[in-house]
Amino acid sequence: SEIIRLDKYLADMGCGTRSQVKQMIRKGQVEINGEKIKKPEQKITTAQDRVCVAGKEIRYEKYRYYLLHKPAGYVSATTDNRDKTVLELLPENIRRELFPVGRLDKDTEGLLLLTNDGELAHRLLSPKKHVDKTYYARIDGKVDEEDQRAFLQGVDIGDETKTAPAKLEILKSADISEILLTIQEGRFHQVKRMFQARDKQVIYLKRMTMGPLVLGDDLPKGNYRELCEEERKALE
Ligand code: URA
Repeated sequence: SEIIRLDKYLADMGCGTRSQVKQMIRKGQVEINGEKIKKPEQKITTAQDRVCVAGKEIRYEKYRYYLLHKPAGYVSATTDNRDKTVLELLPENIRRELFPVGRLDKDTEGLLLLTNDGELAHRLLSPKKHVDKTYYARIDGKVDEEDQRAFLQGVDIGDETKTAPAKLEILKSADISEILLTIQEGRFHQVKRMFQARDKQVIYLKRMTMGPLVLGDDLPKGNYRELCEEERKALE
């Protein structure tokens, strides 16, 4: 646990900006161990003091997990000299210590998990773990059963080994095709390179799922939300 100012603590916990939480404290909406505290500079001991805002307990959690609907144009990094990073889509008081679990290309959209839980990241990214990732893509070219067979067998994308079996579902086979592809690995530019190996080009790519996590229709592009308890449990 840590000893920190009450207003900083509440801001860090995502209760509002520093000035918003100061106001809440001055208005008497905040209690520490059942006692109303009106001083924003009051020190608290995290993981020990019971802090309530408007009667609701704020739980101190060491690890935080957010699901982000990544738009195109952002890089999956914590800092970058040139490009906007996915972290910039979160307010500053939430950003602290977070990093993306794995990467989506700058032009790829969709589900990205952000956390400060290094062990979980390690588990999810370990090649041995085989976490399913499903991508929706639009492809320049007619995707057919031969592509399905090839992906199921594994394709040579120029790496030391062929890709692991991947499931290709064809939603629309036309000059511009639409597909869902489920892979378990996470090689660099993997989906794009798999289609390249079939002489076809990915023109739009969006990650829809990662393991038990699903990007629902309720999370608009550029928005984020905290994982719910069931989702966190499912990741364990
Ligand atoms: N495969 C790709 O080619 N790009 C991504 O961003 C993710 C998977």
